[in-house]
Amino acid sequence: MTALPPVWDQLVGQEELAATLAAAVAEPGRLTHAYLFTGPPGSGRSNAARAFAAALQCPEGGCGECRSCRTVANGSHSDVEVVNTAGLSIGVGDARELALLAAHHPTVGAWRVLLVEDADRLTEQAADALLKGLEEPSPRTIWMLCAPSPQDVIVTIRSRCRQLALRTPPVEAVTELLVARGVDRAMAAWAARAAQSHIGVAGWLARDEEARTRRHRVTRIPAELSGLGDALRQAAALHDLATAEAQAVAEERDAAEKEELLRLNGADPTARTQPPAIRSQLNQLAKEQKARTTRRRRDVIDRTLVDLASVYRDALLIACGAASGDGEGPVQLVNVQAAPDLQRLAGTTSAEHLLLCLEEIDRARTRITENVAPLLALEAMLVAVHRLQGDLAVAGGRR
Ligand SMILES: [Zn+2]
Repeated sequence: MTALPPVWDQLVGQEELAATLAAAVAEPGRLTHAYLFTGPPGSGRSNAARAFAAALQCPEGGCGECRSCRTVANGSHSDVEVVNTAGLSIGVGDARELALLAAHHPTVGAWRVLLVEDADRLTEQAADALLKGLEEPSPRTIWMLCAPSPQDVIVTIRSRCRQLALRTPPVEAVTELLVARGVDRAMAAWAARAAQSHIGVAGWLARDEEARTRRHRVTRIPAELSGLGDALRQAAALHDLATAEAQAVAEERDAAEKEELLRLNGADPTARTQPPAIRSQLNQLAKEQKARTTRRRRDVIDRTLVDLASVYRDALLIACGAASGDGEGPVQLVNVQAAPDLQRLAGTTSAEHLLLCLEEIDRARTRITENVAPLLALEAMLVAVHRLQGDLAVAGGRR
């Protein structure tokens, strides 16, 4: 197989997909006007779409260095429109704008690319508005939608797209990516495994000590659940950690955005009251920022639950003999460092109950996406898990 253009190198563990898309770029007769990229969070859906967009705009099919490649990568290419949702949904206004753009020819590039990063967050009305653009695009428009799975996208939209599935990249490939970005090899290997191949999370764990500390605290929870009071305290602690993390990210950016808005309107940022026209813009901005923080907090809580589940999954592997506490065995543990804790958990809780613990965590994740207050969902989950844990220890009279 001949080497693909360099722009495809940034995809991790997606060789087949990259080859398919590179071939389509080389032979435009194979292109279609709408693609749906699906894959688990962190598999690199939007990276894949961006690489595809760069390959389409680049005269060399994705050299990675020319002006087209660079402007697509940094989001400033005038014919590549990227919609990334800060809030919990994409509204009808954004969708209408995109549908309008779809009807126009590109201005500088060969193609007009419309990239929707979270197509699963389109409201029903927004999806309807978008459909028009999907049905009648200009011949030089290409839609790229991204979502966790095809089922997350409204069927009328899904059926008009060619579907491309990304796979979870192997831990080794994510490790190599981090090493190439300058992360120490031992840290890269640990982060790739702890993040369960989620590329973004792996990079974040590798560079942010607070993220590592949070993960460590989460993975200690099963060992520290000795009473009902612990379960409630730990739920509150988890919730506080996630809120603090979401807020820390938000505060700096929110203030900068507000200043920028005032500057663009020629307003005085130090004035105590602003003219009505600016006030309504400020209110709108505050609303968007609040939605973004809410989403970020939910994302952090979800990540936390994935981390917690990895502990029960590891203990379950040990309990059924698929892995040993020292990390040997046919299946690799995610939390090799926590081996003593894992072994204790596997020794005091039956495989059946470990499985039920995993189901409880899964239920909490679903409830949170269904708008149950996160703290309530976390409390219910940890109370249930606390009851399930340690059934063998009780039976053996050791507790
Ligand atoms: Zn290029």
